[in-house]
Amino acid sequence: MTVRLCDRHGCNEPGNCPAPKSPNSPDRWYFCMTHAGEYNRGWNYFEGLSAEEAAEREAAETRTADGYADPKHYAWAGSGDGSRSRDEMRALEVLQLEPDATFEDVRAAWRRMAKANHPDVRPGDKDAATRFQGVQAAYEVLRAAEDARTWKPA
Ligand SMILES: [Zn+2]
Repeated sequence: MTVRLCDRHGCNEPGNCPAPKSPNSPDRWYFCMTHAGEYNRGWNYFEGLSAEEAAEREAAETRTADGYADPKHYAWAGSGDGSRSRDEMRALEVLQLEPDATFEDVRAAWRRMAKANHPDVRPGDKDAATRFQGVQAAYEVLRAAEDARTWKPA
């Protein structure tokens, strides 16, 4: 078995964290844990995606994951037990939460961050508007995932 190296130039760590090259793209970078984190922090994954689109994508991904035996393709390598999808992990990052955050934590963080970045509170602030949109999309992703879990047949 060959070990794939991190795609970050000059890095010789194993690249075992797949990261989409752009939202909705099937092309992946393969980074080490450190560089995957760096890549994600510098990029608003949900930018340009409405909350509805984000929720729909999460629902579709959850459905697809159910159809395959190997969940590793979908699971973010840093997701602890691997039960969270890639989008969920990104959504948790947007809300500044840990992978094991409960849905109550999600709701609390979402309320706090949506309030802080709301266009009514920060009129004309483009960065805040982008953050607000990302926070809304992140919340919808986590809500869709929570619904999917709750409804999953035994
Ligand atoms: Zn690396």
